[in-house]
Amino acid sequence: MDSKEKTRSELMKEKLFSQKKNAYLKLDDSEINASYALCEEYKSFLDKAKTEREFVKEAVKAAREAGYTEFSADKKYSAGDKIYCVNRGKAVMLAIIGTRPLTDGIRLAAAHIDSPRLDLKQHPLYEDKEIALLKTHYYGGIKKYQWTTVPMALHGTVVKADGSSVDVNIGEDEGDPQFCVTDLLIHLADEQMKRPAAKVVKGEELNVLVGSRPFKDDKGSQLVKLYTLQLLNEKYGITEDDLISAELEAIPACKAVDIGFDRSMIGAYGQDDKVCAYTELKAILDTASPAYTCLAVLTDKEEIGSMGNTGLESEYMRYFIMRLAKSFGCDGIDVISATQALSADVNAAFDPSFPEPMDINNGCQLNYGVAVTKYTGARGKSGSSDASAEFVGKVRRLFDENGVEWQTGELGKVDAGGGGTVAQYLANLDIDVIDVGVPVLSMHSPFEVTSKIDTYMAYKAFKVFFAEK
Ligand code: MN
Ligand code: MN
Repeated sequence: MDSKEKTRSELMKEKLFSQKKNAYLKLDDSEINASYALCEEYKSFLDKAKTEREFVKEAVKAAREAGYTEFSADKKYSAGDKIYCVNRGKAVMLAIIGTRPLTDGIRLAAAHIDSPRLDLKQHPLYEDKEIALLKTHYYGGIKKYQWTTVPMALHGTVVKADGSSVDVNIGEDEGDPQFCVTDLLIHLADEQMKRPAAKVVKGEELNVLVGSRPFKDDKGSQLVKLYTLQLLNEKYGITEDDLISAELEAIPACKAVDIGFDRSMIGAYGQDDKVCAYTELKAILDTASPAYTCLAVLTDKEEIGSMGNTGLESEYMRYFIMRLAKSFGCDGIDVISATQALSADVNAAFDPSFPEPMDINNGCQLNYGVAVTKYTGARGKSGSSDASAEFVGKVRRLFDENGVEWQTGELGKVDAGGGGTVAQYLANLDIDVIDVGVPVLSMHSPFEVTSKIDTYMAYKAFKVFFAEK
């Protein structure tokens, strides 16, 4: 007891008021050090896994090293078995079989591994005034002006006319050339600066600068484009038409770095949602002999509404669970209906420079732990899976009992905007689900910021969820 005795109201407040505070004020040094150590691993993983395809490759590599084998519907599995299943190279599921019967349900966590970016169009390369550029179509919600004058890299896959494919990754290695989208100099931007912010840079102005040197020939046209294609042909054996059957993404070329004098934060491209994908992946890899069968879903296409056969609006995850159930001789519907899930996605962190759209009593703050978001959506919770009080209560108890620092989150003030996650697609399957993830500053920009403590608490949250008895 301090020299001063607590007043009656102070004692009563301690009992009744929320006791949430900055996690740094609650954690001991060993846990803070553990957070920083995990984030070193996270940063180096992120540098190797900047796109969904790369993330799948790295996840499979880590899974195989941890004893996971590829799922086969004909095989019989038993408790402790570890399996993975890749969907078209762009999504992956990892499962570890529990000791309880599968019909007790699965402990499922789902994060997405796609992030906003500039996708190349199918006829991307053109020359204008002896400069070579690539046409793009942005992927996901972006403030377009943020994507100019940023060093960019090109990642992806090209399928050639003969059916063979080649992976592309330029701009990441030391000494690699990089690319960029240009912007108009301020001296000549009088008209541009009068455009509304959404159109300061228009979609068709997001053209990536890729060359200016012509093929050496006194005659002929499009010689800069020709020289660029010659280089691409030498390096990858591709022609202009091969770009039709390609998925190439222009993404920021920066590496993940520490932010702040205190190194308490991480700055990197694509942390929405790879910060949750990585911590979820690490949580399942660190899970041994669970009671419930655990499933970590790392999905694609969330940023464009989970559409397509690698997104969670498709049936691929349900088919996997049905096949797994079949191999156990039980009904997949029983398994799915008993399943409980965390939709592992980021939320907006309070930004002191832009306080207006946040209700500080309900939004999340850096360093207050992993965010538990009951509902997302927009215009009156539209498009949201609103978790039940019972399921929020269960998750809250689980985290409190296991030392997970957590806070509530919402995606901004009422009618300030909004958005959704994959929670709704899991809920559609009759699964109890809630959003749990890391708060992010500058979300959907080329350089997103997270807190190391929050990242670590996301890992811990997924781990205790998988470890439930
Ligand atoms: Mn997300
Ligand atoms: Mn997003």
